[in-house]
Amino acid sequence: MKTDIQIAQEACMLPIKEVAAKIGMTEDDLELYGKYKAKISDDFIDKCKDNKDAKLVLVTAINPTPAGEGKTTVSIGLTQGLCRLGRKAIVALREPSLGPCFGIKGGAAGGGYSQVVPMEDLNLHFTGDFHAITSANNLLAAMLDNHMHQGNALHIDPKRIVWKRCIDMNDRALRNIVIGMGARADGVVREDHFIITVASEIMAILCLADDMADLKDRLGKIIVAYDYDNNPVTADDLHATGAMAALLKDAIKPNLVQTLENTPAIVHGGPFANIAHGCNSVRATKTAMKMADIVVTEAGFGADLGAEKFLDIKCRLAGLKPDAIVIVATVRALKYNGGVPKDQLSEENMEALRKGIANLDKHIENMHKYNVPVVVTLNSFITDTEEEYDFIRKHCEELGCEFALSKVWAEGGRGGEELAQKVLSTLENKPSEYKPLYEDELSLEEKIEKVAKEIYGAGSVSYSAAAKKQLARITELGFGSFPVCMAKTQYSLSDNARLLGRPEGFEVNVREVYVNAGAGFVVVLLGTVLTMPGLPRVPAAENVDYDIEAGRITGLF
Ligand code: ADP
Ligand code: MG
Repeated sequence: MKTDIQIAQEACMLPIKEVAAKIGMTEDDLELYGKYKAKISDDFIDKCKDNKDAKLVLVTAINPTPAGEGKTTVSIGLTQGLCRLGRKAIVALREPSLGPCFGIKGGAAGGGYSQVVPMEDLNLHFTGDFHAITSANNLLAAMLDNHMHQGNALHIDPKRIVWKRCIDMNDRALRNIVIGMGARADGVVREDHFIITVASEIMAILCLADDMADLKDRLGKIIVAYDYDNNPVTADDLHATGAMAALLKDAIKPNLVQTLENTPAIVHGGPFANIAHGCNSVRATKTAMKMADIVVTEAGFGADLGAEKFLDIKCRLAGLKPDAIVIVATVRALKYNGGVPKDQLSEENMEALRKGIANLDKHIENMHKYNVPVVVTLNSFITDTEEEYDFIRKHCEELGCEFALSKVWAEGGRGGEELAQKVLSTLENKPSEYKPLYEDELSLEEKIEKVAKEIYGAGSVSYSAAAKKQLARITELGFGSFPVCMAKTQYSLSDNARLLGRPEGFEVNVREVYVNAGAGFVVVLLGTVLTMPGLPRVPAAENVDYDIEAGRITGLF
């Protein structure tokens, strides 16, 4: 069987201007980054702002196994399928981070015959957006430390600095460090921390900003520290906003690439799906909606995390209204949720499947709470059996839920036609009356409880003493109307990775709460969340190479 990179390298890519021409764009509308990548110009975005909006389809999933269940693969395959049926469809995805690319998970540009290309570029430096975000993040950190060195006129309390440096790499050694060692001229000594670039608030801001003016406004509001009286100190207070915006002037422009079937794909931004909202940029989604009739987009992790944040944060803040939601399930993940250990997921197990399907049921019910019609799709693996398919198909039919089998990994767009048909008939026949789960006016505690009880299925919520104090202070500072961005394990509907299937009545524990004043949400941590991952014993990086003779990268999955 061919690897993802082999399939991608055999693809017949079209020059990106020819892909763009298919949707009526000219070379003037593009800023070319070589032959196969381009940024979409501000002029073009301005020019099409009165176009009719496309229908918006969100792809999400049940609680996954550690390998990922194929949301990106299905998003791309569905879009290819829609294009094969003669529709003008665009997929809008996140940019991959270098961390997981060299760690365990692998690339994030789809898989099999449903990928976006050029996959090596996408997975590595692409158009430099993440490097620009890293630079802006670290400029702010450098200006903060310099301010303290130069007399600290803002009375910043070195024990209350919340801004962290970042790098786009899994590097556990940088989680907790000491900076400013050496002579007096070498700066103020303090404890510092690195996070991975996708966890930077600047990533979240870039992905939620409508345009450059909104971006600047949000950058200025970033809280970097608190002073000795516990008042917030912002990026504006440090006069860092302008220079950060200058570094981000190109990063804010959406990137255009293509699928393996030469249909347009927009790949832009990539915030973490735990401490941030986990979707591609608002600017990319909105631009795609002006260029096509149907836009397919993905939110990270399972629907309890990714879709909830897409619906309660991104759509709320950006004024987007999704028209349909596709929930991706796999036989493997359903069996996993039915209690089968990771190494036995390839064997047929009807009993575990019957048990694990409760997880899918809960996600379907949850998505209906937003009044958006749902289509369930099974991402087909070669180890699956017909009996397993029949059971899941019947189960969905009994629930009155649309169902389609996706063979997009093995067959590309052709294998996505059944799903594309189901999505089209849903868009035509089932109206979406999207509404968020909670109103802005609820208190932060009420919002947290609503998500915990209604989406996760919790019986109660408890708060650490620190979290209680933080909630009170954040509300006092005037951020009580923000939506909540909940961070927890992706493997369970609860905050305990071992509670599989459809747990009920459990207690959720809120450990820590902080505000991202620029992004515009309050982050709520249930349990510990790593914002700087580490590499595994054998990092994927060990298999990556550059083949000099062939002139290309190998081993990138
Ligand atoms: P997600 O977006 O849900 O994290 P991805 O689409 O990135 O998942 O897929 C995760 C990995 O699984 C990729 O390496 C992809 O190639 C692989 N994969 C996805 N679907 C299938 C499938 N049907 N059969 C085999 N491998 C698959
Ligand atoms: Mg994905």
